[in-house]
Amino acid sequence: MRILVSNDDGYFSPGIKALAEAMKSLGDVIVVAPEQNHSGASNSLTLSRPLSVRETADGVRYVNGTPTDCVHIALTGLLELKPDIVVSGINDGQNMGDDTIYSGTVAAAMEGYLFGVPSFAFSMVQRGWEHLDTAARVAHDIVERHLHHSLVDAVKVPFLLNVNIPNRPYDELQGMACTRLGKRHQSEPVFKQESPRGETIYWIGHAGSARDAGPGTDFHAVVNGQVSVTPLQIDLTHVEQMRKVSEWLR
Ligand code: MN
Repeated sequence: MRILVSNDDGYFSPGIKALAEAMKSLGDVIVVAPEQNHSGASNSLTLSRPLSVRETADGVRYVNGTPTDCVHIALTGLLELKPDIVVSGINDGQNMGDDTIYSGTVAAAMEGYLFGVPSFAFSMVQRGWEHLDTAARVAHDIVERHLHHSLVDAVKVPFLLNVNIPNRPYDELQGMACTRLGKRHQSEPVFKQESPRGETIYWIGHAGSARDAGPGTDFHAVVNGQVSVTPLQIDLTHVEQMRKVSEWLR
């Protein structure tokens, strides 16, 4: 099995190193990741300039672009053979609820999914790498499960799984749960500061607190020590509103 590994924190991140290492016993690992941290990059493609791919001494390829650029380039010309799966992460921090819209970690996996490749996004719930070994072991468990019992056969189409792993010892996890995305309140206000040159500058504020974090959501699972696994799709069409909008247009 050929495994394409990417992320949004950058090729130097402890999270992607742990993920690549965890995948080694499952197949041939190819790493193509951003040169710099692109957390919050969402599904952005760089169209205004060319991209370069460079390689470290141990064969890790890095791109001066976004997570989506990395997987896009890998799948459309960089790699001679199409990978069998794409894994993204392990992200430094959770990607749950509405945050998945902004996530570069999810975007890298989503790019694989768009090209018909089964894809997985892995994130650690609390920031900091205290139990990174737990997340790496969970990523291994999940990909191994797919190897032995393919989800593609079960669902007949490619899939995109968004996995969030509590930052705690492996033995203290309370199993894995299939979840739906919760909802957040709108984010906290922007931080305003004055720059050394006297201009007003802005830092994007913190994400809002959870609004829908009830049973069945990703938020609920991880609070209860479970690994949250949410199958995602891309179609944003609001099907229920189509009839009303059609009438409104007449
Ligand atoms: Mn990130």
